[in-house]
Amino acid sequence: MSRIACRSTTIVLDLSALRHNLQTIRARLPQGTGVIAVVKDNAYGHGAREIAEAALRAGAGALAVATVGEALELRAAGIGAPVLVFGPYAASCVADAQAQGLTLTVFDRHQVDLIRQGLSPLLPPLRVHLKVDTGMRRYGFRSPDEAADAVRALRSLGRVEVEGLYSHYAAADDLDGDSADGQFARFQAMAAALGEAGLLPPVLHFSNSAAALRYPERSLSAVRLGIALYGLSPAPGFLERLGIALRPVLTLRSSIAQVVEVPAGTAVSYGGTYVADRPRRLATVPVGYGDGYDRRFSNRGEVLVRGRRVPVVGRVTMDAIVVDVTDVPQAAPGEEVVVIGRQGSEAITAEALAEALGTIPYEVVTRLSRRIPRVVV
Ligand code: PLP
Repeated sequence: MSRIACRSTTIVLDLSALRHNLQTIRARLPQGTGVIAVVKDNAYGHGAREIAEAALRAGAGALAVATVGEALELRAAGIGAPVLVFGPYAASCVADAQAQGLTLTVFDRHQVDLIRQGLSPLLPPLRVHLKVDTGMRRYGFRSPDEAADAVRALRSLGRVEVEGLYSHYAAADDLDGDSADGQFARFQAMAAALGEAGLLPPVLHFSNSAAALRYPERSLSAVRLGIALYGLSPAPGFLERLGIALRPVLTLRSSIAQVVEVPAGTAVSYGGTYVADRPRRLATVPVGYGDGYDRRFSNRGEVLVRGRRVPVVGRVTMDAIVVDVTDVPQAAPGEEVVVIGRQGSEAITAEALAEALGTIPYEVVTRLSRRIPRVVV
């Protein structure tokens, strides 16, 4: 029996939506702009292999992840495209990166030392991209001189190809703010200084989804698309204000496992925090916080059954929730439940769930557990 047939809770990936999103964004960018699909953290919870393959098929030229481990998983899945690793790494991983043709980020002098320690003379050259800090204050060289020193030191190692220079925006999603202007100017100044010293790498990239959509003319060699690729808005109202229609790629679907009729006074789930005020029809749905459905939806969440919103009653447990289907008398075991996504004319979006939780859609989808089978449509 297939893994999927064993569990009714599934993440359904609409790859035509992914294609649509990529094409919609691409159509706004200068011709020839490359797309780096950001598939870190299991492709924002969607499923790294499925999304990486689909993004490459749809025209992305490269992938990006946060860790060497994530990059190696892509290679193990047979994905041979360029993979940029954003985050730090140990010296012991440098040779793996070389052997697997990964691209490492160098954002600090310390990493030049790690590369020096870990580089193998027997393996193909290691490709690196330099990261400069233009205002995010997370990773990156802070001055052109530091960056220039790093390029010289890396070149002196031999077997290192300094291919790219990049930076990251802190608030490009804030349509009322202009900090991105200053960041872009600082990046241009750094690039110019490196250029004058003959040390400028050939590939320049800066834009995340918000910047790619907001400042297409500043796309440089490539843009790094995460959230928009998944059809989600970088910030509340962002896509609407720019008049851009993207389609969510992910649906979190389950089905009713059990239905019971309970009398008034029945307490539900751990702690009995919900007590039926009158006879109720309750359905158990096998999705819980272990799947990434936030426990704060206890007595607050809603799911869709037969195109209607029905409330979560009682506490969300690790593996299941109970929902009140009193108003959906047809609901029976096997009935489809949509936790995130559309059913009939109703929709529960990752953005809406994020707003209810006081967080961002990135977190809502990224927390979806690997134990949920991913199904591609
Ligand atoms: N570039 C870097 C360095 C990132 O860390 C991220 C995501 O956090 C992205 C690009 C993609 O950002 P977004 O998902 O907002 O497009």
